Amino acid sequence: MLSVEKAYQAMKSLVTQLPVLGGEMVSTYESLGRVLAQDIHALADHPSFDQSAMDGFAFQWQEGKFEFALIGTIAAGDTPNQWLPQADQCVRIMTGAPVPQSCDTVVMVEHATVAETIRMPVGTRRGQHIRKRGSNVTCGQTIFAAGTRITPAILGALATQGMTQVHVRQKLTVQVAATGSEVVALGDPLGPGQIINSNSPMIAGMLRGLASVVEGGIVADTLEGLSAYLSASKASLNVLSGGVSAGDFDFVPEAARLSGYRQIFHKVAMKPGKPIWLGVHPEGRVLVGLPGNPVSTWVATRLFVIPLIEAWTGGAWCDPPWIQLPLLAPLSNRGDRVTFLPAHVSGQGVNAIHTQGSGDLIAFAQANSLMRLEPASSADAGTMVSVLWC
Ligand code: AMP
Ligand code: MG
Repeated sequence: MLSVEKAYQAMKSLVTQLPVLGGEMVSTYESLGRVLAQDIHALADHPSFDQSAMDGFAFQWQEGKFEFALIGTIAAGDTPNQWLPQADQCVRIMTGAPVPQSCDTVVMVEHATVAETIRMPVGTRRGQHIRKRGSNVTCGQTIFAAGTRITPAILGALATQGMTQVHVRQKLTVQVAATGSEVVALGDPLGPGQIINSNSPMIAGMLRGLASVVEGGIVADTLEGLSAYLSASKASLNVLSGGVSAGDFDFVPEAARLSGYRQIFHKVAMKPGKPIWLGVHPEGRVLVGLPGNPVSTWVATRLFVIPLIEAWTGGAWCDPPWIQLPLLAPLSNRGDRVTFLPAHVSGQGVNAIHTQGSGDLIAFAQANSLMRLEPASSADAGTMVSVLWC
């Protein structure tokens, strides 16, 4: 059985062998969550003209001179240089308005004394409160690297450059299906001994924004049915839940083999999620078999499927961003596997959430984070523990 770290190594090396996704142009407005297919270079200086950073007065700084005659007002959007104050003059200027060529300094309105003339405070620094043209970015500078995922701030930054379209990687197609002869689709009648498919809508929700998710339905626990399903699907990534452990009807690993997938690993030393299965097809498709217990499905999706998709679409593997936070109540892990507990992060630190086990999705759903506990370890209150914000 692989450790989590060894499993990550295997995924990291798998990602380097997977087909690189093609590129496409999309509207910047629609680009949130997409991955840049090439480096982005600034098309223009930013800011594109000298701007006032404050509501105040603009003038030409001179040693020992503090009083200036007010000659006019410049608002944001006004044409530059419609007022050109002389050495003893100033203009009222608004945040974002173009600073006249003859001025080099702005004093905040709150710091000036407004009387017959405008008096600037002692200690005013030459050049203060002006956002100089190109002070953020100069034309041609690389501002974002290929492989970067577009966040709302990046989307806004692209807009500052007047970019209406952006070259991004195509979305990865991920087909998500549930296995299990007991599993019934949400909304369908539920017979005795049957359960509702909660895994597929949950996985689809977790992957939305990262990939194009295709609903693969429910596949019964037969070797033939599962093999036929896997052979028919041409999605880049197939995600199945259930059917990967040691039960008599857990046919996913064998069906994967029959459909041409080569196993990379089966079972990772973690709790929950141990039976996770990963394999690759000679045609460059990948299959992840997740354990069917809903909490295990969630944890394995967060810790394995999401980093895999991020790396495949972005080009570089990144471990999930674990942070260190103080534990609020003592905890121990008596088991021999790394344990991931649902947790609640507050301003004070982190607390584990009590659940009845890996089937208890309702209690698990109260968590806002996962906590990692090493095998055979205990931690007192105040100890720093690894937490993943979710
Ligand atoms: P398995 O991994 O197939 O042995 O399933 C483990 C447990 O998870 C069983 O109790 C299943 O009934 C349950 N389970 C499997 N698939 C799903 C699903 N799609 N939604 C909710 N529970 C599931
Ligand atoms: Mg099953």
